[in-house]
Amino acid sequence: MAISHRGFTITRVPMLADNYAWLVAHGGASAFVDPADAAAAIGAVEDAGGRLDWVLLTHHHDDHIAGAVALAARFGALIAGNAADAARLPKLDVALAPGQTIDLGGAAVRMIATPGHTVGHVTYVFGDAAAACGDTLFSLGCGRMFEGTPAQFHASLQALAALDPETLMLCGHEYTLSNARFGRHVDPDNAALAARAAEVERLRAAGAPTLPVRLADELVANPFLRAASAEEFARLRAAKDRF
Ligand SMILES: [Zn+2]
Repeated sequence: MAISHRGFTITRVPMLADNYAWLVAHGGASAFVDPADAAAAIGAVEDAGGRLDWVLLTHHHDDHIAGAVALAARFGALIAGNAADAARLPKLDVALAPGQTIDLGGAAVRMIATPGHTVGHVTYVFGDAAAACGDTLFSLGCGRMFEGTPAQFHASLQALAALDPETLMLCGHEYTLSNARFGRHVDPDNAALAARAAEVERLRAAGAPTLPVRLADELVANPFLRAASAEEFARLRAAKDRF
């Protein structure tokens, strides 16, 4: 079901075991973020009217890019991604540097660098409406630090934290329930986190998704987004890896 927010239409597209890809439309144009599964992605685009202008890639992992070439070919869309990571991505039609924008039906989509999960990871910011953040931020958590440093990852999360608080965060996985358990463990007195954890338990028990989530709701509840320093982030990330 599509969500309308600040002029954009956002559709969550479940794929693989627990991935979410995202179809974002504005002004008649549309972009598909992180198509792991071409058949699921093509079906979602057809359901939404059958037009696709962009395939946007957040990072090089297979569960975010495997369907990109077939999806783009089916609709004549352009594949865009981080120029610095082009060697590990499907062939890019548009290689962007962080800070550059593309046009989506008259609205700007800005690519920002969010390294940490991988060194070439980027986030796409759709106007002031939504941010497709791949495996950088999850609700109540963040991605594993496979390639980057704690300082890089902390800075990336702070860059996301600085976006408009009404931004809808389009995260790459449904990991919220296990993140909530870890969050309650490290921040047991946080009332906002307790409330979100209860909501998440209710949603997951009903088989419902927990995403997208408003940035404002993460700012008060997500321990990784709230880490005050790279050192605190590193401690949390290591603890979560062992949890
Ligand atoms: Zn990944």
